[in-house]
Amino acid sequence: MAAKKPASDQTMEKLISLCKRRGFIFQSSEIYGGLASCWDYGPLGVELKNNLHQLWWHEMTRRHENIVGIDAAILMRPEVWKASGHVDGFVDPLVDCKECKSRFREDQLPEDANGKCPSCGGELTEPRSFNLMFKTHMGPMEDTASEIYIRPETAQGIYVNYLNVQASARLQVPFGIAQVGKAFRNEIKPGNFIFRTCEFEQMEMQYFVKPGTDEEEMEAWKEKRMAYYKRLGIREDHLRLHEHGPGELAHYARSAWDVEYKFPFGWQEVEGIHNRTDFDIQRHIEHSGKKMEYIDSGRGERFVPYIIETSSGLNRSLLVFLCDAYREDEIDGEQRVLLAFHPKVAPIKAAILPLVKKDGIPDIARSLFEELSENWNCFYDQAGAIGRRYRRMDEVGTPYCITIDYETKDDQAVTIRDRDTLEQQRIPLSGVKAWLAERL
Ligand code: ATP
Repeated sequence: MAAKKPASDQTMEKLISLCKRRGFIFQSSEIYGGLASCWDYGPLGVELKNNLHQLWWHEMTRRHENIVGIDAAILMRPEVWKASGHVDGFVDPLVDCKECKSRFREDQLPEDANGKCPSCGGELTEPRSFNLMFKTHMGPMEDTASEIYIRPETAQGIYVNYLNVQASARLQVPFGIAQVGKAFRNEIKPGNFIFRTCEFEQMEMQYFVKPGTDEEEMEAWKEKRMAYYKRLGIREDHLRLHEHGPGELAHYARSAWDVEYKFPFGWQEVEGIHNRTDFDIQRHIEHSGKKMEYIDSGRGERFVPYIIETSSGLNRSLLVFLCDAYREDEIDGEQRVLLAFHPKVAPIKAAILPLVKKDGIPDIARSLFEELSENWNCFYDQAGAIGRRYRRMDEVGTPYCITIDYETKDDQAVTIRDRDTLEQQRIPLSGVKAWLAERL
């Protein structure tokens, strides 16, 4: 029985409603009418986000002996953002419709709009520059001397620290520094649920290479990053690489590619893979007056490394995993909604469901729950008909439901039901942990 994808125009609405109903994502400050584009992650949302964070971290650090992590402060000296180009260059061109007052990014107007308002065809204002960085004040005085920016990207915390990390971890080029953390952008047009928000988390890895090897390293990272999404179950035909043309290329980049996903609202960027050359380090050399050269004493070389960056949004990739997992099908004439997450991604790995509430059955189930929850996030549920309990687990993407019945007392075995195939198999109670470990 193949699960169907629902009509795409309704998918987002259904997904947003499921996310709220089942505790993935809530509107921020909802009781006060909500704060536009800000979202809170509920019990299952935070598990899902933690899983994606950890999977990325494992993939990008533990699996490479030459990549290490860092957790830099969100607040940095204002000079950092001057050097990086964000103070002068991190601006979007804004246009307003003189008729209906809608606001757009000039660079995102549809081609066929011909310089007119895409909503009503009205005349647009001249573009105005709008800096995307949030500002705040540090210290008790709200004067310009205390003005400080809230970081719009995590990358700069890596660049300014690269020699501290390299020396302390005794790394040699090529090496990488990875970081996951919050970034803030005063986006003009946030939207599409958690796709574009003013507060979000980035998962970035900056790979420091010898100039001349940069394009080769870039090719390797493009392949690795695409393989990562596929390995975690994202459908191949919903993924593609898009190369930035001359008009799109950022001032710092020699070449740039986006991993794009086919969202219900169209193909959009999930991750950028950029060859940033030595632009950032050179700028910090210029502005800080520090040398910032990498010295390879073994080879007697010194140079400013080039940087290949892989930069993705944690919240945006969570939306990818949600959209890709959403399915509707029918079981025995009844409609079913399921999230077909890869088991490694699923917020709950296994549900432990005693079939009856008496005769010692819940005791066996509880002790299995205790054993499994040492390793994984599991869920114990003894309330209601078994069919309804299965449906609740399908809807939140739990890959395995384990039932304990009267026979368990005699044969010391349990039944495991697979969320996607609905197949059930009987396995020994003592082997459940190893069975799950193989799949998780
Ligand atoms: P966009 O063109 O969508 O504004 P960008 O090219 O400015 O994105 P980068 O600066 O390269 O994005 O950031 C890297 C990643 O961070 C993006 O691929 C995306 O996953 C995530 N990201 C960027 N801006 C936002 C945002 N406002 N909300 C959520 N995620 C974001």
